[in-house]
Amino acid sequence: MSTLRTPFVGGNWKMNTNAAEGYSLIDSIQKQMQGNGVDVAVFPPFPYLMSIGNAIQNQTVLGAQDLWHSDNGAFTGEVSTDMLKDCGVKAVLTGHSERRHVIGESDGLVNQKTKRALETGFIAVLCIGEQLEEREAGQTDAVNERQIRAGLDGVSESQLESVVIAYEPVWAIGTGKTATPEDAQDAHAKIRELIGQMYSPAAASAIRIIYGGSMKPGNAPELMAMPDIDGGLIGGASLKAEDFCGIISAAQGSLVS
Ligand code: PEP
Repeated sequence: MSTLRTPFVGGNWKMNTNAAEGYSLIDSIQKQMQGNGVDVAVFPPFPYLMSIGNAIQNQTVLGAQDLWHSDNGAFTGEVSTDMLKDCGVKAVLTGHSERRHVIGESDGLVNQKTKRALETGFIAVLCIGEQLEEREAGQTDAVNERQIRAGLDGVSESQLESVVIAYEPVWAIGTGKTATPEDAQDAHAKIRELIGQMYSPAAASAIRIIYGGSMKPGNAPELMAMPDIDGGLIGGASLKAEDFCGIISAAQGSLVS
């Protein structure tokens, strides 16, 4: 990686682990992790945020997989930014493909959540990416552009400093299929160019754009060697400390490549 952008590696645990497994996972990650110069975050399920947060002893950031965009009130089942702060959360995912395509979140709702996260002082990891039919129809860049323009609508250039964009082709998530480094690089470069048009060249070169979709220790080095890939959002492989730490090491290795 030839820029000054600090790599970002996030582990999205999704709806996995129980209390004991989560504790053991964070404990092993901390013992094995060698990631100087890499920003590392874990996104455990809501019920375990407090206990995982208490178990974190190094610079690892505690993240949440979702948030609600209003003040505390009558929103049954939802979790507010005040509650997340109480648990020590510093980063949140918005627009993850499972929330868009399984739960049915619209671009508008993703935008409200992203703005709420930024207004209340969190790092927002805005996830975008095309579905298989969209890729096959040649719509990858158009989908990415639509999701970025909608997701960042009303977000200022100074707020953008707290945004990480995760490009996650939906067909690669949890499937074992990974975008080739060249295809991923092409999408990332276009996303960066779009940020340049929407904001400024400085904003484009500063923003971190990370890749997600079946990243593993084996394919992470070649993906992260690409000039516009600044880290990864990891699902399945983040549930094994050895694999997650291997990916963090690949991000660290990209700093000198
Ligand atoms: C994800 O859920 O963001 C993800 C990239 O999952 P996986 O690594 O399992 O494909």
